[in-house]
Amino acid sequence: MDMRNRLFPDELLKGFRGHIRFHNNLRDSEDTCAALNHGRKLGEAKFMLRPDSFVKLISNHTGTSIHDLVCRHSVWPFTACMRRVSGAAEIEAYIETPYGRTDLMRKTRQYAWTCIDCQREDLAFWGETFWRRSHQLPGQMWCQKHGTALAKTSLGHIDVGPPDHFDAYFPEEVDAKELQTHSKVTEFASLCADILDGGLTFSPSVCAERIVRQAEKMGLGTNLKECADGILRQVPLVYPKAWLADLDRRYPNIQGGQRGGASTFLEGKNELAGAQLVMLLALAVFETASEALLELRRTDKSDETQAESYV
Ligand SMILES: [Zn+2]
Repeated sequence: MDMRNRLFPDELLKGFRGHIRFHNNLRDSEDTCAALNHGRKLGEAKFMLRPDSFVKLISNHTGTSIHDLVCRHSVWPFTACMRRVSGAAEIEAYIETPYGRTDLMRKTRQYAWTCIDCQREDLAFWGETFWRRSHQLPGQMWCQKHGTALAKTSLGHIDVGPPDHFDAYFPEEVDAKELQTHSKVTEFASLCADILDGGLTFSPSVCAERIVRQAEKMGLGTNLKECADGILRQVPLVYPKAWLADLDRRYPNIQGGQRGGASTFLEGKNELAGAQLVMLLALAVFETASEALLELRRTDKSDETQAESYV
């Protein structure tokens, strides 16, 4: 069996499972887990009462801790940044719960994205290509390392094999070169990357309050309702429409009927608001990623332990 036993830097956990499946001609992810689980025959996994999660199996296989796999090889630190879970032991326990398993698999984009220049370098240096988690962050249209436009392909391909084995194409509706000069898009890209790499966590209610307060300072409204409406009106004004639509097709109309939890979040009534939406709203009122981070992470004394980074 071809079972590479370590992950490459920034390699997506899910893609690593795809790598094992691809190189061993395994039928699906279930059989891949079975192959990782020594002593268990293929096809047996589904009959087990409580099979090990694949993150646990990959942890055993590579000798990398679950905490490191989750924090350095998945987009979970970004998708779950509005969480209350922190610290290695707590994260490890959470990821093993049914909700945690789903949370780890949560998709960040509609497609799988890859950089052709990374592929070329990876083939030369590592001898194979792999899916990078930094390319799967919402709104990223170019590679942070090469500045090259990212190409997209079907999301399911991550589960099937390495990126150079699939046709990928550049989106027609957005021009990555043009977006690279758009300050809000570049700030959003760097904000998401900072959260992913730094393992930063946030409190939804603190975020909502700071965003609304900033809107008030900007004169977008004098009360909560006015400010919330004002922030939503800013969204299609400050971000390019096609880019917003790629993020979520409802966003270009967020100020109209398609609010998708944005108003309730701003009014402090939605503790489950997702990171993508919260950061989009934050940069609708704050100029830069660093300004947004400074404000959203400023905490009262009582909040301090929850805001600690785990890196
Ligand atoms: Zn690249």
